[in-house]
Amino acid sequence: MADISFRGVNKIYPNGFQAVHDLDLAIDDGEFLVMVGPSGCGKSTTLRMLAGLEAISRGDLLIAGERVNDLHPRTRNIAMVFQSYALYPHKTVQGNIEFPLRMAKIPTAEVKRRALKVARMLELEPLLERKPALLSGGQRQRVAMARALVRDPVAFLMDEPLSNLDAKLRVQMRAEIAALQRRTGTTTVYVTHDQVEAMTMGDRVAVFNNGRLQQVATPQELFERPLNTFVAGFIGSPSMNLIDAHIDSSSDGLVLTLAGQRIELGSGLDSRFAPSGRLAGAVAQAGLRPEDVVDPHQAGEGQRIGGRVAMTELLGREQMVYLDLADGTRVVARLPAEQRLHRGEKIAIGIDPSRLYLFGEDGRALDG
Ligand code: ATP
Repeated sequence: MADISFRGVNKIYPNGFQAVHDLDLAIDDGEFLVMVGPSGCGKSTTLRMLAGLEAISRGDLLIAGERVNDLHPRTRNIAMVFQSYALYPHKTVQGNIEFPLRMAKIPTAEVKRRALKVARMLELEPLLERKPALLSGGQRQRVAMARALVRDPVAFLMDEPLSNLDAKLRVQMRAEIAALQRRTGTTTVYVTHDQVEAMTMGDRVAVFNNGRLQQVATPQELFERPLNTFVAGFIGSPSMNLIDAHIDSSSDGLVLTLAGQRIELGSGLDSRFAPSGRLAGAVAQAGLRPEDVVDPHQAGEGQRIGGRVAMTELLGREQMVYLDLADGTRVVARLPAEQRLHRGEKIAIGIDPSRLYLFGEDGRALDG
């Protein structure tokens, strides 16, 4: 078993800067966990504490139930692949893969057997005699992974391993790494700032901001039930529109005021926010995903808002329409491409209340 557990972990750098605050996070044995967040959010620091490259200031780190705070990186038996996956240029692929085992003074026959096994798994067998200079970026990446895996580590850590690759190769490697992890079943912690990478690769995704874990959940749950406005705005592309809003109860039921315009909610919020009456006075922002904007003709009575087209971006069958609402709030809607729209044109968009996300003054989601 190689489950990993951060318990109240803090990191304060010698200059006094606190990069990680009270991190509680449990990673299951065999899980692929992705840590994601903007630059400086503390994800690399967290990974480096796990690898033993950075001391933990306060709290406990457990691997397979054992407290490892004071264990040297080498004795943690964790493999790490960095952004710059430096291979030894004068060694062949085989020499590179075998190197960690030779360093560990493992008998030659076993070195050969284990190196061949990972080479097969990563489809590197035909390249074993080549030097790194004669490999593509993706192949080098795979050699770096093979070299890390050959030690049979309890966990595999990767810090932005794809950031040096071009966009097409990145997409391909993304799928390869995820498939490989599923084959080996090695507990993997993967750091990226790219939410698409996180959402497509991870069994679960841990979202960080300002040194604090915001939410850890499956990709689908993060998308459908973000716990706060940070996660709501970070996950999804283009990101969710977050609009100042409030809800009042009137004789017609609940009414949402969104950027100065009224939307009658009817019973549209009951399924997600029951009892929805508690929302009156509690809502500070409404979240609307660009893809959840509906055709105004299909929207219910009193469930449309108007705006002026500021810009459009054509994306094949769809277009991103940037709209300025009456109070100047900019929202993005993903609409079918057929509708030709011009800058400055006034249009209406439909809102389906059941698709709205609602947040309180403190930024926390009001569902659940
Ligand atoms: P990036 O994606 O840019 O690498 P990150 O989310 O991985 O960002 P970290 O590298 O973990 O962020 O850094 C978190 C914060 O800690 C940043 O504000 C960074 O400036 C700060 N930091 C990192 N290393 C040190 C250090 N040795 N001393 C002081 N502050 C540091």
